[in-house]
Amino acid sequence: MKSKHAQVHFNESGTPVADHFDDVYFSNDSGINETQHVFVAGNDLIERWQQWRNPTFVIAETGFGTGLNFLVAMHAFNKFKAANPDHPLRHLYFITTEKFPLPKKDMQRALEAFPALKAEADALSTLYPMGLEGCHRLHFDSHSTTLDLWIGDVHELLPQWHSPVEGLIDAWFLDGFAPSKNPDMWTDALFSQMARLSKTGTTFGTFTAAGIVKRGLAGVGFTIKKRNGFGRKRDMLTGVFSQDNENVQHKLRLPTGPYYRYANSNIDKTSKVAVVGSGLAAASACLALVKRGISTTLYFDGDTLASGASGNPQGGFYPQLHSEASIASRIQAHSFLYARQAYDHTIKYTKANNLTDVAHDFCGVIQLSFNDKVAERQSKLAAADVWPEALIKPVDSKEVSDIANLPLPYSGLYIGLGGWLSPPQLVTAMIEEALQCGKLELKPNHTYVSHEAIETTKQRVQIRFNLGSAESEEVITADHLILALGAGAVNAGDFDSLSLRPVRGQVEAIPTQMPIEQLNTVLCHKGYMTPALDGRHALGSTYVKNDLSTDVRSDETETNLATHEQALANTSIVQALQHDGKARAATRLGSPDHQPVVGALHDFDSLKEDYTMLGVGKPLTSAPVLPNSVVSTLTCLGSRGLTTAPLMAEVLVSSLCKEPLPLSNDLLNAVNTSRFMTREAIRRQS
Ligand code: SAM
Repeated sequence: MKSKHAQVHFNESGTPVADHFDDVYFSNDSGINETQHVFVAGNDLIERWQQWRNPTFVIAETGFGTGLNFLVAMHAFNKFKAANPDHPLRHLYFITTEKFPLPKKDMQRALEAFPALKAEADALSTLYPMGLEGCHRLHFDSHSTTLDLWIGDVHELLPQWHSPVEGLIDAWFLDGFAPSKNPDMWTDALFSQMARLSKTGTTFGTFTAAGIVKRGLAGVGFTIKKRNGFGRKRDMLTGVFSQDNENVQHKLRLPTGPYYRYANSNIDKTSKVAVVGSGLAAASACLALVKRGISTTLYFDGDTLASGASGNPQGGFYPQLHSEASIASRIQAHSFLYARQAYDHTIKYTKANNLTDVAHDFCGVIQLSFNDKVAERQSKLAAADVWPEALIKPVDSKEVSDIANLPLPYSGLYIGLGGWLSPPQLVTAMIEEALQCGKLELKPNHTYVSHEAIETTKQRVQIRFNLGSAESEEVITADHLILALGAGAVNAGDFDSLSLRPVRGQVEAIPTQMPIEQLNTVLCHKGYMTPALDGRHALGSTYVKNDLSTDVRSDETETNLATHEQALANTSIVQALQHDGKARAATRLGSPDHQPVVGALHDFDSLKEDYTMLGVGKPLTSAPVLPNSVVSTLTCLGSRGLTTAPLMAEVLVSSLCKEPLPLSNDLLNAVNTSRFMTREAIRRQS
């Protein structure tokens, strides 16, 4: 859903004021000094960072506003890291909520008042997201600071944050307009969520000393201290959370519903993780791991990367959105925005370091309204008004023709941030970027055979590979295994209970000529067509269920051409649709509900038992406690891997490292590996 923007004006001191709340975003006296005093010193951050032994520290904030608190925290953290280069604390998470995001120009104007934070403000401005509800995970300074900007109401968002059993947050910046101006925010519901997400020793700082805040936080387990307030404010509050407090119920931390648990993996920076796969999912997992300093080895069969579904020369890049903000559409929208950020970064990085130059063009994607049924669906989406225009907007036939640079008699929907990329070059670039971290090793010509959990001093996993002949095997041991096998999963016994759906797809590479030479955007209808790369356009794709062969077939070439001829019948494009036999076929892997499958690869037979037992005579309210998991999967990305791979890899690796997750619980449930069994148990119950 798109969000409502804040309406602001600037007062005589140049401080932004929210019209709706009639309150300032920060002190007229000095915004920076206020943040330092109330939130940084109020949480004893610098002293605590010095003592910290974990790799990550998590700050949560209510009310992102102009981002000033975030910028001050990131600035302080960068200073801390520069002064302590070998310190075990390497990564700051700042997770925050905002119901009414500021328009970018107002945010920029507000932050101009702080020249000391110019570098940080410029970085924020570059990544500042569109007003789409949900989590926007933004990486700063090569992942040393991560901002999770959750757009929406704090009361709806906090219950959607998943927490490991020991808690998630280390320090709270309890901001938000004054309780008298914004009473709806400062409620017991907020304080209980803070308790649910806190650990023993979690601190908070807030500018207010209002009784309702003091009593509310004391009531859920915080010890409260009054300190001198900032500027004209006499008092403010700080405090520390104690898990022992009888008001704090451990069960509060369990997820609502039976679906999702953090895998009980014990991955840390001494761990060795094995990733198997050669495509976008595997490359995304490797990058997410090495950016956290985790030693990773990538195993793949053959001697080239991207040999499967990620090997087509051009891939259209866009989200598939419906007229409602359905779970599927929200996964698509957030995956797309995260992938765009990730690809921008990788493309820039490899170019600057004289590595692979990724062929791409973010030239936009038009979904053509090519028949009455599609026209009706598109009008419904336009009328529903649930997506920001920056993501998708209706365009008339003149606009379509201008964007496409070809006369086209159709209206359509335009996805301006989309376009096309070369997936194999992208995979290579991501792997090169990961190699530069010095934590990745590549093992080509290793065909995955099987794995077995083993118990030494801690649980590990033994993995068997075939090196080309039956006699030539290699068995290695790792702390964790991530299977990102794509269609290869069909032949691996580990996925038997998942009901995998392989679908073969053939994409033509037709030679360019007038007028399609002029095409300037990706056209989607029943199929899709890209602008030319090296004199050829990608024209796809066929869908042949349960077919694992990858031979090029002339009947599928005819099908691809016929699909385009039919949809584009009234255009000049048709005469240029001529092929010379060049095409590529690959098998993508899907799931029964068409969503990715991400997370622990459990012993599904015993899990089935657990879920059955859960269903007997009592409501399914919590997930079974699972044994340590040493194997995960990142699979079933279907034909949408270019859109979903980076965010799904980030979800998986964040959960393995017990870090905040960039998806709400309902979306996590929708991609969870155990969802099929859970649904079956629920069905049996009813
Ligand atoms: N921390 C901010 C900064 O560094 O600029 C200033 C925060 S400002 C005082 C309070 C913010 O809380 C506003 O941006 C407001 O829109 C937001 N807010 C108010 N009620 C909220 C709610 N229920 N959920 C989420 N955000 C809310």
